[in-house]
Amino acid sequence: MEHMSKSLKKLTSRPDFNERYNDLKKQVLNNPDVQAFITKHSTEIEDGMINRSLMKLYEFINQSKNCEMCPSLAKCKNLLQGYHPRLIIQGRIIDIQYDKCPTKELQDERKKNEALIKSMYIPKDILEAQFDKIDVDVEETSRLQVISIAQDFVEAYNSGSHPKGIYLYGSFGVGKTYILGAIANELASHKVPSMLVYVPEFMRELKGSFQNSSLDEKLDAVKKIPVLMLDDLGAESVSSWARDEVLGTILQYRMLENLPIFISSNFNLKQLQHHLSISQRGEEEPVKAARIMERIKHMTVPIELIGRNRRG
Ligand code: ADP
Ligand code: MG
Repeated sequence: MEHMSKSLKKLTSRPDFNERYNDLKKQVLNNPDVQAFITKHSTEIEDGMINRSLMKLYEFINQSKNCEMCPSLAKCKNLLQGYHPRLIIQGRIIDIQYDKCPTKELQDERKKNEALIKSMYIPKDILEAQFDKIDVDVEETSRLQVISIAQDFVEAYNSGSHPKGIYLYGSFGVGKTYILGAIANELASHKVPSMLVYVPEFMRELKGSFQNSSLDEKLDAVKKIPVLMLDDLGAESVSSWARDEVLGTILQYRMLENLPIFISSNFNLKQLQHHLSISQRGEEEPVKAARIMERIKHMTVPIELIGRNRRG
């Protein structure tokens, strides 16, 4: 305590103290966020409260809110990286409360999901995919069309409507996963959580989760994520369990809750229907396959991605 009063005394005894104090106060009172707070709480803010809270208010105005001034979490300029300040009234002063910022929220959610679902793994080049970096050959009208529809989706989603996702099909190596990655990254830059799940691995993983009872938890995460991307649907081996209990359940839930889904596949819709109708054991179940297809058609717009194989 003595320490503190000593340094305060030192500060207040400096010859330019008054000038600096007034300047600081002016900065604080000119800040639009502070003005809004004062207006909103005008009945609670009593005489002297602002003067008593000046250092807190100064701390507040110099930090980024809603990640506006931070390009990334690593470059967060706030006192406590990943946390942004909010003003509150605490007894006789205005104080600061720190909450997780949107970028940290998103990263924590992603980490939690990654720890839970191993098949959420995304290759590094795809992790960095971005619309404006997607390389497009001049004659690739299909790729341009897909990118433009994907951008329309992000725009519509951000403005609060419920656009349909995309059923993106085309041959091996044309860049379907890459485009899904770009959509995921674009959504992330707007603080929208999404999950890109590699279906064949996901099905294997779920099968293995029977024993350790994490099945429901994994399924739940995938059902409820704001935007889901199922990568390479059709490359998995079909069992009635995978089709009806996993895929069917996910689609049903998301359809009812109006949660968008993106799907990539080497198959067009007709081929996928055929693939889903014959189980590993050779049983033909066309009605069950048709039910899945109905949901997919309801929730996505089919687009074919045509282009050269970009692998190797
Ligand atoms: P698919 O999912 O259709 O089989 P991928 O998305 O995995 O194809 O793409 C195959 C390879 O080509 C990947 O290594 C990916 O990074 C790369 N790639 C795909 N699209 C592009 C693109 N537009 N620009 C540059 N590289 C791309
Ligand atoms: Mg792929």
